[in-house]
Amino acid sequence: MEIKNVKGNTFCIDTGMTYIPFYKINDEEIIMLDSGWKKEREGIDELLEKNNFKVVGIICSHAHIDHVGNNKYLKDKYNCVIAMSAYEALLCSSTVTLKVYYSNETLTEVTEHFGHMVCETDIMISNEQDKIYVCGIKFKILHTPGHSPSHMCIITPDDVAYIADALISYEVMAGAKMPYAYILREDLKSKAKLYDLECSEYVVAHKGIYNDITKLISDNINFYKNRAERVCAIIDDAMTMEEILKEVVKRFNIPVKSRYKYALIERMLRSNVEYLNEIGDIELNMDDGFLKYSRNSSSI
Ligand SMILES: [Zn+2]
Repeated sequence: MEIKNVKGNTFCIDTGMTYIPFYKINDEEIIMLDSGWKKEREGIDELLEKNNFKVVGIICSHAHIDHVGNNKYLKDKYNCVIAMSAYEALLCSSTVTLKVYYSNETLTEVTEHFGHMVCETDIMISNEQDKIYVCGIKFKILHTPGHSPSHMCIITPDDVAYIADALISYEVMAGAKMPYAYILREDLKSKAKLYDLECSEYVVAHKGIYNDITKLISDNINFYKNRAERVCAIIDDAMTMEEILKEVVKRFNIPVKSRYKYALIERMLRSNVEYLNEIGDIELNMDDGFLKYSRNSSSI
């Protein structure tokens, strides 16, 4: 793990897998943008200690396990304030509310896999808010729902935009068998919204630093649409969600060895299938008591 300077007082921790940006208020105090994955905790902890940093605030882009995994740990350690979108803050307020999101797992599984995401949020950010003050520092907010229900991009006082998961890098695109969006149609709208953003630097969580993201936005939109089209091509008859999943796992060569992985792939597939349904490429019908998706004749 290492620290990279992005611009001015904006830096990021390179965990290997992810960039976690932070804003340096002074030699000691920092505000983190996301807190990373639990697996990355030891490395992040070591890096913070080595640099004598004290985390005074965390602003979270969205409540995914690899972005809020150390919220509670860092809050307990530094007594820092946590700011998050109101909706995702409520999601992280207990394991029962987390189950709203992880609905295809039992409460016991949710507690076991995601229990460490539960944290107390001090500042709830509403969907209308376009800025936030944390420890007296102003950050601009751009709401980019879709990847998660209330995903947002955060712009530091150095004019560095943390894009988080609203875009993915070319390396991730190359390896992603099925990219994820909670609601793909909204996510594509949010990606298009990024064309209007004019910042000096852009940090993509998985993982890249860019000074121009115009091409990356177009390539992301095409990549996500193309993956959905590949799912569409698999639906060659009236198929249940489980039948589609079975085919996708086989044809995309996705290893699914646990119920946890199955639940994850199911969530990823569902967003693609719902998108195809929303844009009219497939339709959902009752067939002898089963819900089955089939391709619309115009899309074949
Ligand atoms: Zn995410």
